[in-house]
Amino acid sequence: MLNGKFPNGVAGYSYHNHSNFSDGKNTPEEMLLAARAAGIREYGFSDHWVVAPDYFERPVAWSIKRERIYEYLDTVKALKAKYTDDKFSVKVGLEVDYFEENIEDVAKELRSFELDYAIGASHFVGKFPVDGCEDYWKPLSQAQIDEVIEGYWQKMEKVAAYPAFDIIAHLDLCKIFCYASTRDTSAHVDRILELACKTGKAVEINTAGWDKKCGICYPAPAIIAKALAMGVHFVISADAHKTEHIKRYFDQAVALLGK
Ligand SMILES: [Zn+2]
Ligand SMILES: [Zn+2]
Repeated sequence: MLNGKFPNGVAGYSYHNHSNFSDGKNTPEEMLLAARAAGIREYGFSDHWVVAPDYFERPVAWSIKRERIYEYLDTVKALKAKYTDDKFSVKVGLEVDYFEENIEDVAKELRSFELDYAIGASHFVGKFPVDGCEDYWKPLSQAQIDEVIEGYWQKMEKVAAYPAFDIIAHLDLCKIFCYASTRDTSAHVDRILELACKTGKAVEINTAGWDKKCGICYPAPAIIAKALAMGVHFVISADAHKTEHIKRYFDQAVALLGK
């Protein structure tokens, strides 16, 4: 694991990228070549690995299929061997969904994959798909919205505490469709940032948020400012799902970090 060794807040290092092994559009090699051409110094593959607990009726469609995980690992490890040189390096990772029901088994499996790093994420509260589609949020009452957002933050605290993860993904993803809680959630944020410091995890500035309804990166600039004051380690992530995303909004992210 790269734990604690990510360059702090540098735009040429990009660890959160998807290919057509999960919900990305391009092949891993197309993504890698686009990153290299765009001047990325270190490129990491992090396709979705979602091991849904038993209460899901079916596997999550946008995850790497279970029967293809070793094909993914073999493919990206071969690309790492082929393209790593003194100017460009390649890392092998996954974006892993946290579920408390199976995280121990998932973590054990992750160790066997011999990854360079793992990004910890939560895209679900129970079975509710936080960033799936706004239509899932529309029928919710304000009380239900408050419950979803509370559940989201509780889960992100567990992600931040869990040792198998090196990077905390899109910290305030629950704002994606502009639904907000009536409760004060700042205590959750404070605990997560403290956990990031304590465990040496990096928090990502995920620039994909600028392309979503919320119109702003994850986490919000106020959280970034607080995290910087605490000494939290940052990585800049495009959460790229196609070659055009490779360096999206990296300049804005660098500006937020005051570099
Ligand atoms: Zn994600
Ligand atoms: Zn992602």
